[in-house]
Amino acid sequence: MIIVLKPGHREEDRRQLVHTLRALGLSVHESKGAKRTLIGAIGDEDVLRDLPLASMPGVEQVIPILKPYKLVGREFKPDPTVVDVAGVRVGDRAIQVIAGPCSIEDRQLLLETAHAIREAGATLLRGGAFKPRSSPYAFQGLGEKGLELLAEAREATGLPVVTELMDPRDTVLVAKYADVVQIGARNMHNFRLLKEVGNLTKPVLIKRGLAATLKEWLMSAEYVASQGNHRIILCERGIRTFETATRNTLDVSAVPLLKLETHLPVVVDPSHAAGRYDLVEPLAKAAVAAGADGLMIEVHARPEEALCDGNQSLKPDRFARVVAEVAAVARAVGRDVGERP
Ligand code: PEP
Ligand code: MN
Repeated sequence: MIIVLKPGHREEDRRQLVHTLRALGLSVHESKGAKRTLIGAIGDEDVLRDLPLASMPGVEQVIPILKPYKLVGREFKPDPTVVDVAGVRVGDRAIQVIAGPCSIEDRQLLLETAHAIREAGATLLRGGAFKPRSSPYAFQGLGEKGLELLAEAREATGLPVVTELMDPRDTVLVAKYADVVQIGARNMHNFRLLKEVGNLTKPVLIKRGLAATLKEWLMSAEYVASQGNHRIILCERGIRTFETATRNTLDVSAVPLLKLETHLPVVVDPSHAAGRYDLVEPLAKAAVAAGADGLMIEVHARPEEALCDGNQSLKPDRFARVVAEVAAVARAVGRDVGERP
């Protein structure tokens, strides 16, 4: 249920309403827009049957939320959400570029890559310390050592960091180092994990599941929001189709569709979609032209030595050219690239 408050309502009426809703066992989420304050009352709405909500003081209108995703839908919050990551505003006018190696492997390599991507215009540094590998024999990531290196790279460059959390048991550890906690494609359906990150105060980036519909993906975001954490970024990274020429098929239509359905920012990862470095640039441009709020691109100082996803990783000089190309597209659609705090 969405309760729209009258413009200029009394603070006392708002407080009383929130108190009444909570006392009925509903969870209450407030959205203060430029023109209106909306109160989302989520839970078993049967408890509202005997409450004359529409005639309560300060209430202008009561609207049922028809979509299954209540908090992340546009119905609840018509204005776009900007997720502020230590001053880097994801979802605002400028496109933000998240870049870095697939996995954190080595101190020198990471620092070299981090400085290079910063130079090229990236505003967030990515790198995995816990890697979801298809084979148990493949490199699994450096764990906490990797997180320490990532923190050192943040210190050296000033770039906030994005890193993946795979297991609820590592939540405290990963949240200690991460500026944005990444939920990988394979864990998009891990509801326990989603609830865990819903209790964090850090932003969460949720990648689209390998075969997830937009509705399923938005319901995963709803899991996070339902716990109170509304700082969510969605990341399209390609889906499984019959096509084998690319690692995944980038669903460009997901971007404008999500923009209609949700107020959350949407970024696109062309690296995991393509699975090959030479397709990253055109897919990145397509994503920005379609309205993406950012990109996540894998960059490695020496891709031929990478322990994970070398085929799709860009060398720093190529990455710099891609950012310049993307910036031209961004400007053509009324946006910009990489404003730093
Ligand atoms: C990654 O970002 O390195 C990764 C494993 O991505 P995904 O979860 O999209 O496969
Ligand atoms: Mn990867």
